Amino acid sequence: MLYIFRLAFTLACLSVSLGSQAIDTVRVSDKVYALTGDLGQRSPQNLGHNMTSGFIVTDDGIVVIDTGGSLANAEAIHAAIRKVTDRKIIYAINTGGQDHRWFGNDYFRGLGAKIIATESAAKDMRARGAEQVERIKPLLGGKFSGTELVYPDTTFAQRMTLPVNGITIELIYTGGGHTPGDLLVWLPAQSTVFAGDTVFAERMLGVLPGSSGRWIKSLEYLRDTLKPRIVVPGHGKVTDMKQSLRDSYDYLVFLRDAVKKRFADGAFDPVEASQNLDQSRFSYLKNYEDLGLRSRNALAVAEELFNVTSK
Ligand SMILES: [Zn+2]
Repeated sequence: MLYIFRLAFTLACLSVSLGSQAIDTVRVSDKVYALTGDLGQRSPQNLGHNMTSGFIVTDDGIVVIDTGGSLANAEAIHAAIRKVTDRKIIYAINTGGQDHRWFGNDYFRGLGAKIIATESAAKDMRARGAEQVERIKPLLGGKFSGTELVYPDTTFAQRMTLPVNGITIELIYTGGGHTPGDLLVWLPAQSTVFAGDTVFAERMLGVLPGSSGRWIKSLEYLRDTLKPRIVVPGHGKVTDMKQSLRDSYDYLVFLRDAVKKRFADGAFDPVEASQNLDQSRFSYLKNYEDLGLRSRNALAVAEELFNVTSK
């Protein structure tokens, strides 16, 4: 509790207007900034920045964490960075293969940044990029125009230390979370992690097919190995490990346990094992009221467990 108060005092906030919505620039610590956006769906107002990203100031230039959901979003991210510093952008990290992690790559590469992601994320981008464009275009309307898909310049399998001076930045792949290629950006000296889509805070996460097992493992790595003092989640405000576990880990574990029990009680198939599952323990999360999201999450977990046990 005491720690939360301290965090609230340290975080200074300045907003960059995005039409009627806003990206909040939050100074997490010396050299480290989060860019916090909307918790809801992608819209022309938020330009696809319905997530949290950020940037790090090194002696050599700026490292951007996630490039945004559209060209317009990338420009807005750059505008937010320029309010803090006019240093050159040297790297852009894509923390995963979901649209808002990498749809602004074209813009940042144009500024001279090298784009880095995991091998697994790059594979995911190539597999799902076109399909993601089709889904996002209607949500952003004219604000999506000019967005071109650009894949990472450099990929790595497990771990990479960024060759920059002034701050240690480690990129760690733990097997993925929400998407298969999600990585963690770890700043050991600051005990801070940019968790990307491995951590959803404040809002209900979305379980993609086959993701809950790997996702839980990645959260356990965060909890047991990195033990960060500060978590910049992929969705939600800058927080700590306690809230990250409550809002992401506990929900995933809850879904798996509830579905396992249904199977143990004789549920015949994933639909039966997931239907009308009481998820009200998590009704405090934003987007809980979205019944479609809750049902899809339960069904995805049931299908994953059914596939594992029926092999
Ligand atoms: Zn996301």
